[in-house]
This record gives sequence, C-alpha cells and structure tokens, in this order.
Amino acid sequence: MPKSLTVVASSDQPWYADGLSFGCTQCGNCCTGGPGYVWMSDREVDLLADYLKMSREETLKKYCRKLHGRISLKETRDAKGEYPCIFLKEDPQGRRTCTVYPVRPLQCRTWPFWDGNLELPGSWKLAARKCPGINKGRAYTLQQIAALRDATEWPEIARTPSSDATITD
Ligand code: SF4
Ligand code: SF4
Repeated sequence: MPKSLTVVASSDQPWYADGLSFGCTQCGNCCTGGPGYVWMSDREVDLLADYLKMSREETLKKYCRKLHGRISLKETRDAKGEYPCIFLKEDPQGRRTCTVYPVRPLQCRTWPFWDGNLELPGSWKLAARKCPGINKGRAYTLQQIAALRDATEWPEIARTPSSDATITD
C-alpha cells in the first residue's frame, strides 16, 4: 500500500508563499510620481499633530485635504511635474526623506506589501519598476507579509514563531 501523503492544494497558498524580499533604499519614489492619495485615519492625524506640535485643526488645514469623505495628505508639484507628498524633502545630494517618518501613516508603513501589489507576480513586478527596494534586502516570510498586508494598525511589532525579527518598516 502506498505511503499516505499530506496533500496541500497549491491554490490554497498565495504565489508568495515562500516569502519575498524588500529593503528600502530611501529613493523616495513611492512618495511622489503622479497624483495620488496618502490616506490618514483620525488617530494618525492626531499623532501627526502631536509630532508637529500643532493643533489638529492647524494640521488638517496646512497638510491635509478632504477627498471622498476621507483625509489624505496634501501633495506639492515639483519642477519635474511630479506630485510629491508634502512631507517628502530632497537634500542637495538628491536624497529624499520623509520628514515625519516616526508618524507616517499605515499606508506608508505597509508598502510594498499592499493587496494590489501582491495580487499577482506581475503586480509585484510592476511595483518593482517604481520601487528599487523590491526583491532586495531583508527576507519576509509569508506570515510577516500577511501581517503587513492585513494590518489595520501600525505594525511596529510583529513577531513570528520562527524568528524574533521585529517588523519596523
Ligand atoms: S508621509 Fe512620508 S512616507 Fe508617507 S508618502 Fe509622505 S513622505 Fe512618503
Ligand atoms: S520606492 Fe521603495 S526603495 Fe524607494 S523609498 Fe519607496 S519603499 Fe523605499
């Protein structure tokens, strides 16, 4: 009699079941480009206001806009015709950084592990054309990817049974 096998249907596993790599190079590409949205929750607006030492009202007026009943960060328009997030700053050496990094919203914290980027290998490949950190750097397990993909709160601390790694980006 043949030895019994545990069969796991391959369709039960996402295409990235073996994990993915990502290491941010701080190029700033994901914070600019065409017009877009950086969604903020109410709590994130309050945290941003605290960080900036401004009132919530001032923060909303100066840095946020209301769209479709939601709050997004404002964008600017640069000399290249791109629309950088209002908090993206470029130094004279061309390095681009987030000036509110400790309180950047969930949307920024979970890039590039967004549903849309993870839908198909081709979606991930497309995202990699804009983000040079994709497929480089740190290895993320399926569990870590899923934690970021499904996060509804800042995923500062996500521990896995197999590693003591802490997700901070
Ligand atoms: S808040 Fe910071 S990380 Fe997020 S889009 Fe703006 S500059 Fe980029
Ligand atoms: S595009 Fe990718 S590598 Fe560049 S800043 Fe954004 S996350 Fe980092």
